[in-house]
Amino acid sequence: MNNVNIKINGIELSVPADYTVLQAARMANIEIPTLCYLEGINKLGACRLCVVEIKGARALQAACVYPVNEGMEVFTNTPAVRRARKANLELILSNHDRSCLSCVRNRNCELQKLAEEFGIEDIPIKGENDPVHEIDDISTSLVRNNNKCVLCRRCVAACENQTVSVISCINRGFDTTVNCAFEKSISEVGCIFCGQCIVSCPTGALTEKTSIPQVINAIDNTEKHVVVQTAPAVRAALGEEFGLPMGTPVTGKMVAALKRLGFDKVFDTDTAADLTIMEEGTEFIERFTKQEKLPLITSCSPGWVKFCEHYYPEFTDNLSTAKSPMEMFAAVIKSYYAEKNNIAKENIYSVAIMPCTSKKYEAARPEHSTDGVQDIDASLTTRELARMIKQAGINFAELPDEEFDDPFGTATGAGVIFGTTGGVMEAAIRTVYEVLENKPLENLEIEPIRGMDGIKEATLTIAGKDVKVAVCHGTKNARYLLEKIKAGEKYDFIEIMACPGGCVNGGGQPIVSAQERAKVDIRAERAKALYAEDRASKIRKSHENPAIKLLYSEYFEKPCSHKAHELLHTHYTKRTKY
Ligand code: SF4
Ligand code: SF4
Ligand code: SF4
Repeated sequence: MNNVNIKINGIELSVPADYTVLQAARMANIEIPTLCYLEGINKLGACRLCVVEIKGARALQAACVYPVNEGMEVFTNTPAVRRARKANLELILSNHDRSCLSCVRNRNCELQKLAEEFGIEDIPIKGENDPVHEIDDISTSLVRNNNKCVLCRRCVAACENQTVSVISCINRGFDTTVNCAFEKSISEVGCIFCGQCIVSCPTGALTEKTSIPQVINAIDNTEKHVVVQTAPAVRAALGEEFGLPMGTPVTGKMVAALKRLGFDKVFDTDTAADLTIMEEGTEFIERFTKQEKLPLITSCSPGWVKFCEHYYPEFTDNLSTAKSPMEMFAAVIKSYYAEKNNIAKENIYSVAIMPCTSKKYEAARPEHSTDGVQDIDASLTTRELARMIKQAGINFAELPDEEFDDPFGTATGAGVIFGTTGGVMEAAIRTVYEVLENKPLENLEIEPIRGMDGIKEATLTIAGKDVKVAVCHGTKNARYLLEKIKAGEKYDFIEIMACPGGCVNGGGQPIVSAQERAKVDIRAERAKALYAEDRASKIRKSHENPAIKLLYSEYFEKPCSHKAHELLHTHYTKRTKY
């Protein structure tokens, strides 16, 4: 791509010819405010906060959509620009439910930050700022509050990017809202609860459905034995909520915080990830040997499972019947752990801390219960855990590291990399290879399936046979891969995660502003923390985890045994296509 020469605020720049004015300004470290713009996802020029003056143009132009051209002169901070931006912001705020003090996004809201930066002290325009829209809080996972919506349409673009498209703008003018078709609840359409709309939203209009009060009640109830498990991706991002740099692993501090919050036992979901590998790996070996129901497709991402059930029901038989690590762990806690410790399972309250909003839906699925008792009682997001820690007055950054509790405190490096795209497949290969070859795998780091490419493929030779694997993340890439399979492409084993980047970028993770997201690849930064923990692990293969060996010798006998099938496997439903 050729470059063009332009001037911004008198500074001479040479920038790629396909840049917008906003990209050129950012390249020169000149800040232009934005609200609707989201790098790589939403580019509309709708909020008009990024307007700039362009020499020779008759009106102010939106920098996020205006292309650069040779000899262009741009001014980003003139009196006319400042007046227009402030007036646009006042208009947006005039129609906004400004209940910042009780808003979950207070102090992490892009609208609030802009109001502060623009020195807004009063809203001269009278608008509809009393709540007028009904709040949609029926679903297990999401709450939609259009009274706080600024119509930036980032959520619409994020949902389109997932190729789900269950939300869009309806009506016109002042009546415009973001809604589902026929103004249905999000629970009544084909939403997969991935939460990518939530992490894209600049305000408190989209949030997770919280279970914090129920968890606090359980901790306060002395008759309840409250156990908590934490997924691998949580430790890679929780520190961001407390000002630590992105990608700082905070495993020990997280455990210490959970113990101070009053949980009776703090377990590591990574241990259950190892259990998942034992079951799923065995299932793969069986199907590969018989050449049946291939490709085997991973099933630990509930957003992906729901996507498959709604949009590709013809592939539900390909899904691994192995439950997700969260659900395997939950079943083990209310069976083996309850029996061993002589605790009635009704008296166990089982909490999962997940990077995911779809896990709330997974926890509520009726098939994830035993004798009418739901295996998971509450699934909280990373953000909800951070809120609990802040509410309890715990100084997170200063906490000493503490260890997970036994018997489920021992995990492997294979379990920890589940949190990033490619991690489940890499963990599975480490075990499948050694089981079939009966010798150590020399290089545990399977580079072709690492990284942030949308679809990654590799062909491995195991026990004299070629095994073709693929890894993809984001349901747009899943759709592309499944269409390839329908057109005749053959694979043996596939990992699919609903969220772009995998769980590290799940819909329950800390929300990073659009400005920050344009500067760093949050998926890759958080993944680094998990790969570092894997490298530092004493045990890096699931089948070598002593906690898992004990579990099989004392309870399940062997992978895919009758008892394992009863407690650790599940089934799927072919759902309506939308
Ligand atoms: S969305 Fe932002 S501006 Fe609106 S009430 Fe919440 S914190 Fe305040
Ligand atoms: S949760 Fe995912 S599928 Fe549902 S509306 Fe949001 S982006 Fe779309
Ligand atoms: S819900 Fe949030 S992301 Fe969607 S249009 Fe409204 S403010 Fe923007």
